[in-house]
Amino acid sequence: MKYVDEFRDGERARELAQKIGQEVAPDRLYHLMEFCGGHTHAIFRYGIPDLLPSQIKMIHGPGCPVCVLPIVRIDSAIELALDHGVILCTYGDMMRVPGSRKMSLLKARAQGADVRMVYSILDALALAQNNPDRDVVFFAIGFETTTPPTAMAIRQAERLKLENFSVFCNHVLTPSAISTILESPEVRELGTLPLDGFIGPAHVSTVIGSQPYEYFAEEYQSPVVIAGFEPLDVLQAILMLVRQINEGRAEVENEFTRAVTRDGNVKAKKVVADTFEMRREFEWRGLGLVPYSGLKIKSNYARFDAEQRFTLKRRSAQENKACECPAILRGVKTPRDCKLFGTVCTPENPIGSCMVSSEGACAAHYSYGRYRDQAIIDDKPSMIKTSST
Ligand code: SF4
Repeated sequence: MKYVDEFRDGERARELAQKIGQEVAPDRLYHLMEFCGGHTHAIFRYGIPDLLPSQIKMIHGPGCPVCVLPIVRIDSAIELALDHGVILCTYGDMMRVPGSRKMSLLKARAQGADVRMVYSILDALALAQNNPDRDVVFFAIGFETTTPPTAMAIRQAERLKLENFSVFCNHVLTPSAISTILESPEVRELGTLPLDGFIGPAHVSTVIGSQPYEYFAEEYQSPVVIAGFEPLDVLQAILMLVRQINEGRAEVENEFTRAVTRDGNVKAKKVVADTFEMRREFEWRGLGLVPYSGLKIKSNYARFDAEQRFTLKRRSAQENKACECPAILRGVKTPRDCKLFGTVCTPENPIGSCMVSSEGACAAHYSYGRYRDQAIIDDKPSMIKTSST
């Protein structure tokens, strides 16, 4: 387990936590958003809140690809499976996310739809090769990390001259989401979401590099530290953010140098750029319509685009009113603020997307931190001033 165990060393974690405790100013709060669901998961899995001084407040961001997909796109996937008779291939988590009227792909399968769980888009390609008389659609979701494999699969389908394979493309872009949060009224006007810095995504940054975050640091004076998913990565990133904030700096720093460079993966970016183009806007759960935040398949690959190949009804869909996922994804509420958390809504019976995916904030709170979280709220010292942001 070399390269893993050394980033989970308990002694080193305690030392880092001690340093953070020594360096935080006693009279201010540090509001740090971890954009990525992988970080949220690591923070709770390794009990990081217990190690941090009370001045550090971690805020969960919208970086869980399952969580941010709006209900209307889930409804469209269900429509593809139920009304168009395709073999719809998707990841396990996506099968359980409720769409409108509590319908899900799992329930569609119980009604006779051919919905298959796959581990990668290559499984969907193989299904298309093995079932030439059936249309096979891959329900593609995810940030910049999962986009290159989708692009490669589309090119492979072209090389194989597959006539029965297409992609329902829902790939989204991280920088647009960060911009939207920083531009949101909660951050800019109302001050209800104080944000002092970001822990930048790990896997996404291996593809896009650290360069795209430089704009946020400069334009919004918001420090960013890109970090890996191990506990020492996260603690080190928190320490680096605390130092930047204390020194009044707003820079992009890279804690995850073992995998991330400034330019990222140039080859992967080229394949993506040759296969996809920006959508003018794309709807995100919690963030609404975000300009230039999603990808669609380029016209020269239109025959592999499920939205071109099948006529999908355009419809609006309504969130479950009691579910606080949209506010949680914007960082303005926590899972504890939802009345359904841990009672009606559990990982076994998820009401919203944040409880479905293991990277979702509600699932992470439920699995690792729900009791501890309440204790932290109860113990919060009253003399700490709010952040100046
Ligand atoms: S606990 Fe369930 S219902 Fe509440 S916000 Fe989370 S996912 Fe939605």
